[in-house]
Amino acid sequence: MSDDGDAVPSAPGADDPVLDEPVLDGPVPNGPVPNDPVPNDPGHAESPEDYHARILAAADAEGRLPVAVEEMPGWDIYPYEIDGLRLKPLQPLVDAEPARRGEEARDCWCASGFGPDDGTTVWSNARWRLALADSTGLPVQLILSPLEHHDLPSLPSDLAAEMGQLVVSISDAVEHVPSVGRVHVAKYGDGSAHLHLFFFGRPARIPQFRGSPLLDWEENLPRVPLPVLQANARVVAERLLVHVGGQTGPLGREPAPDGAGAAGPS
Ligand SMILES: [Zn+2]
Repeated sequence: MSDDGDAVPSAPGADDPVLDEPVLDGPVPNGPVPNDPVPNDPGHAESPEDYHARILAAADAEGRLPVAVEEMPGWDIYPYEIDGLRLKPLQPLVDAEPARRGEEARDCWCASGFGPDDGTTVWSNARWRLALADSTGLPVQLILSPLEHHDLPSLPSDLAAEMGQLVVSISDAVEHVPSVGRVHVAKYGDGSAHLHLFFFGRPARIPQFRGSPLLDWEENLPRVPLPVLQANARVVAERLLVHVGGQTGPLGREPAPDGAGAAGPS
């Protein structure tokens, strides 16, 4: 993974960390939202300082919280052995939320559009693009983004309605990939400001990979060969074409007999 500011949707596997590691290059002011009819002063709710002080009070002298062995770390789906496991010390509260890539539209990849297709587009229409992560240990891992610059909390209602339909259709399509047992859906947005939803295909018939620890497993699984990812992505693209229209990308098309149509990252 890198922090080079590449467009998230065009290179989801290589350049965008799944967990969206924050980019620490300066604070972002948390000002009021213009034209927000709801007063932005919920004084009855807990402050960041009080939240942080409360969890720090539960930590030891080094600032380490105990591993919750009675919770998920003790379940059979947890990927790590408990012996020797310990949490990192809690860090001090920072002064402000760190900046993300493309916080302002003019600084975002979308200011110049997607540019030439780099071979990771699975499906698109006039408003959305579904991209393939080309480096993953899962049968399929996809990222859905609007073409216009929006974050989830400020997504216009028409795009929000369409996103709901797409989440359902993409989920259906991912669960039709033969080696996928379940689709997992996530939004993080701590690394890049431009809205991007993740769809993870949890491998079929491996109950050890169920639940949120899947991502901890994924980092350690061998990379799925690109031709396999392309074949799986075509399953997704062909179903989306039928259910929601739009067009398939290079990875969503059946390759030509001579291989000329099997576009991929180069
Ligand atoms: Zn953008």
